[in-house]
Amino acid sequence: MTKQSKKEIAERCKRYNESHREEIKKWKHENYLKHRDEIYQKHRVWHNKNKDAVARWHQDYNRRGMKNYYSKRFQVLTLYGGNPPVCQCCGEKEMTVLTIDHFDLEQGKRDARSNIITVTNRLLKENDPSKYQVLCLNCNFAKFRYGGCPHRYPEKSPWRRLQIA
Ligand SMILES: [Zn+2]
Ligand SMILES: [Zn+2]
Repeated sequence: MTKQSKKEIAERCKRYNESHREEIKKWKHENYLKHRDEIYQKHRVWHNKNKDAVARWHQDYNRRGMKNYYSKRFQVLTLYGGNPPVCQCCGEKEMTVLTIDHFDLEQGKRDARSNIITVTNRLLKENDPSKYQVLCLNCNFAKFRYGGCPHRYPEKSPWRRLQIA
């Protein structure tokens, strides 16, 4: 069979499927209803027989997803915090507590509400150090809460301002 004719058949199938979409949907659903118990039973037997494999698959699936996310996050951290990434205020190295600080506060608020994976992908794509930097949780919080981390802006510390300590 030549490549061309294979392609032609595929095209014809596609055209047929498109023009009969509703019919096919109906037929599939009817077939499902007719054999529902049978399908369910078969699935249950298969599932019971392959319990361990299914559990392993899920574990693996989650692990792959996590690995993918954390390697992307690592790339984002090195992009905005050097390699190895450090807090740009205090030099904290522990990656678990490193965060991305948005110079644009509104964008930061929006990102905090958005899906972390979507945000991570965007940060990677943007590649714009004029918009973000890496800060540790402490420095990021202090900057957010007091308008500047006391490491760099001692006058922002409420205790110092109020001359208590
Ligand atoms: Zn820090
Ligand atoms: Zn700091």
